[in-house]
Amino acid sequence: MNGDGGDGDLGAIFRRLIRTTGSISLSQFMGESNARYYAHRDPLGAAGDFVTAPEVSQMFGELIGLWLADMWIRVGREEPVLYVELGPGRGTLAKDALRAGKRYGFAPEVHLVEASTALRQVQEEAVPGATWHTDLSTVPQDCPMLLVANEFLDALPIRQLVRTAEGWRERMVGLDGDAFVFIAGRQPMDAAVPAEWRDAAQGTLLETNPGAAAVVYEVAGRLAEQGGAALIIDYGAAELRAGSTLQAVRAHTKVDPFAAPGEADLTAHVDFATLARIAQSREVRHLGTVTQGNWLRALGIEMRAQSLAARAPHYAEDIAIATRRLVADEQMGQLFKVMGLAAPGWPDGTGFDAN
Ligand code: SAH
Repeated sequence: MNGDGGDGDLGAIFRRLIRTTGSISLSQFMGESNARYYAHRDPLGAAGDFVTAPEVSQMFGELIGLWLADMWIRVGREEPVLYVELGPGRGTLAKDALRAGKRYGFAPEVHLVEASTALRQVQEEAVPGATWHTDLSTVPQDCPMLLVANEFLDALPIRQLVRTAEGWRERMVGLDGDAFVFIAGRQPMDAAVPAEWRDAAQGTLLETNPGAAAVVYEVAGRLAEQGGAALIIDYGAAELRAGSTLQAVRAHTKVDPFAAPGEADLTAHVDFATLARIAQSREVRHLGTVTQGNWLRALGIEMRAQSLAARAPHYAEDIAIATRRLVADEQMGQLFKVMGLAAPGWPDGTGFDAN
């Protein structure tokens, strides 16, 4: 980040930076931490730090593949067509989705947007023949695209604004001795806060994610131009809420986000209401934002689980546990949301309010 070569202790680099130039934004802290975190490791799975829906069960990727294939078939099987995934992790979702779609003749060109060299290597095994990109800008623009992003936006750096006694300020990362602490930035931020929040009680905290906003703006613009549809899946509320959702996870346990920068996965909830507004500003249709549990049930996950269990009775209990994990309210079913977007002229897609 500052000519250090990137291999030194990120905590030491941040301390030197803060001592030299003053406090840094949470966005810088989170962005650098996650870039370091993802660059050299595969954090997914039981042996890693966290488990995502595609790693829970093949049914997750398969149902996504069927949803995408169904959209493509209903619009007339246009060729060529792209499968684009943002932050594909171990490539499991892509592999399961493409296998399921292939049975219906859906054989798209595969484009994966991935920053981590370590994860690209894992993805090459899972999805041979794909093309990799560091961001969307190099993904082809001349044909329809079916895009998926699961637990991608939550890893992008957020900013936090906090209502202090002196008004709204950005929440910055400073130092107390050697320890990282939150401190209020010096510049007033009242004008950056929506009018209805300006007089909120002292201590009220709002989050914004400019990176997520930029990605959805770009995706929606491309859908309107190229045709296609997108599924954006992540945890977060359907409406803007106050409060910090920043969390750090290491070895399946929540840890202090400041404890070891670059060694834990830093995430924040995704603000779907704002993202839906951004998408709609670009002539794309917001099909809806629904809970993961309801969406997967509408796509028939329970029937799919039964037929898998009938074919592999030894795994019936595992399949039932995985299904509950994906759909039950107290597990991933309620907190995770699925946002659907579609180009004008494309169908409504199964599982959304628009149906
Ligand atoms: N979608 C996968 C992995 C989620 S973890 C799954 O559901 O299992 C987040 C993924 O996004 C990882 O692949 C990570 O390397 C990638 N990622 C995080 N920040 C990124 C960025 N700024 N640009 C591109 N990829 C990024």
